[in-house]
Amino acid sequence: MSQPALLSDVGKVLIDFDFSIAARRLAEQCDHPAETVLTLFDDIKGPYEDGRMDDATFVREAMAVTGFRGTKDEFEAIWCDIFAQNEPMHATLGALQGKLPMYLLSNTSGLHKDYFLRTFDIFRHFRGGVYSYSAGCSKPGEAIFHHTIRQLEIDPARTFYIDDLQPNIETAARLGFRTFHYSFAKHPRLQEELDEWLAAQGIG
Ligand SMILES: [Mg+2]
Repeated sequence: MSQPALLSDVGKVLIDFDFSIAARRLAEQCDHPAETVLTLFDDIKGPYEDGRMDDATFVREAMAVTGFRGTKDEFEAIWCDIFAQNEPMHATLGALQGKLPMYLLSNTSGLHKDYFLRTFDIFRHFRGGVYSYSAGCSKPGEAIFHHTIRQLEIDPARTFYIDDLQPNIETAARLGFRTFHYSFAKHPRLQEELDEWLAAQGIG
């Protein structure tokens, strides 16, 4: 029987993000206003996060559709500099270090994953993870959850799953995970439910 584990979404759980920061900085270097520049990514963001488009192609197409006047490195820096660490969650997970394995499950792209893993200390708590762009499928579909259960060798019945999006929580609950629908304001509630669950798993 597999041991208890914690599985967590990334955006709006471990780190906050604000694409409007990127929109303002992109608008300074192209002919589109900050209010609408992000809509130009609508057709390429999905394929990119599902792994059907690689980093280089995404950056090339994104620079082309916006008419971005800066360099490729400047574009990548703007695209990635939208995150901030969730400090209460950093403290919660730090206290669990060594008590159970913790893993990530995120709909994300290669550029963003590489950026957040190397930038924020909170990711030191995690042993590994599954990402939509490399799995070739995304939440809330069941396929990426099945892939995660197999790859990480976790038992949904003994895994506490945290996500901020209700459709993802519904899929996880259907597959037997213990779930928590997260928001930053609900962090104290998460701590209570996590503590109760850990005690029930025999982890003090
Ligand atoms: Mg999220």
